[in-house]
Amino acid sequence: MDSKNPGLYLHIPFCLTKCSYCSFYSQTDVSLIPDFIEALGKEMEMAGAGFSSPFDTVYIGGGTPSVLSPRQIEKILAGIEKSFRLSRGTEFTLEANPGDLDLSLLRSLKNLGINRLNLGIQSFDPQTLAFLGRRHTVEEAIKSADAAREAGFDHIGLDLIYGVPVQPLGLWRDTLSQAVAFYPEHLSCYQLTLEDDTPLAEGCRRGGFSPPGEDELLQFFLTTSEMLENSGFIHYEVSNFSRGPKYASRHNQKYWDHTPYLGLGPSAHSFSGSARWWNTRSLNDYLKTLQSGNLPIEGKEILTREQLRMESWFLALRTRKGVHIEEFNAQYGEDFLSYNSGILKTMQEQGHLVLEDGHLRPTRTGLALADSLARI
Ligand code: SF4
Repeated sequence: MDSKNPGLYLHIPFCLTKCSYCSFYSQTDVSLIPDFIEALGKEMEMAGAGFSSPFDTVYIGGGTPSVLSPRQIEKILAGIEKSFRLSRGTEFTLEANPGDLDLSLLRSLKNLGINRLNLGIQSFDPQTLAFLGRRHTVEEAIKSADAAREAGFDHIGLDLIYGVPVQPLGLWRDTLSQAVAFYPEHLSCYQLTLEDDTPLAEGCRRGGFSPPGEDELLQFFLTTSEMLENSGFIHYEVSNFSRGPKYASRHNQKYWDHTPYLGLGPSAHSFSGSARWWNTRSLNDYLKTLQSGNLPIEGKEILTREQLRMESWFLALRTRKGVHIEEFNAQYGEDFLSYNSGILKTMQEQGHLVLEDGHLRPTRTGLALADSLARI
């Protein structure tokens, strides 16, 4: 049974340099870190009161949380303990940049209670790292993964990116092989997307490079899935692989099945019931609003039953678990299979969906088509 306890996300809005493809909110002026930590403490106190059930996941992301010192991370964790009830065995994830890590920092993070480490490796090829504007080297990536194991982390995730114009399929296969050789518990393989207002999108518009076409990307996707499943990983969501069910991200699962989550820090999003709300993106506005005693919420929407129903499909069909037919029918008062009978039958005949154990599940090719499946 999946947990319906809420999850807590903290957005750390600092990076030492900006990667060329990134549209996440962060800024490079780290002199504001102490003010941010004070403000985050206030936000935790104010927002924590709205959630009565204990949280069972905490995800510290960003930005680059590993630009913080152990003392600063300890202060944030103390704020969490003070403002929220946590379940026993809470999953504590921290995202880290390989260039920031050494054995001593990793040991401190482990001692502070971080029990899941997500390393932004992205590639084991120097040219790909340079194209993406990453500030770490291949050597640092290798060292950080080794050091994380030596520090005692037994739940390590590596993030990788494919579909980079300078990266032929053979090079991507090498990166996957190197990643598997570390024996990580989790791998996330994201397709590079050209987000508006990023230097990479601008470079493409100016004709600096051509992104891979759809057929090529499909090849990357299918190769990734096949290689990793042959290496013992479960392909449990479009971009995510785990070495067995217990290593699937408990926190991310909440985003896919409408479990409540609270997001704090600039640009963070939250969801509960049928409400979704989000914080201001600007760190300065975030600090000012909290200093004046208010929550930095910029917008809120209430999803209609129809929107929730559509999202519920869209998100479930991005996971191998798929749609639980009986639960869906009970929740939305609608016979899911007969309502969509024509298209579902076609998709099954084409091998993109299978009906098993009361679920409609995407196959490997179904996961590759997850975005179009969501439009049926
Ligand atoms: S380190 Fe992560 S958050 Fe920071 S700019 Fe690069 S991709 Fe974006």
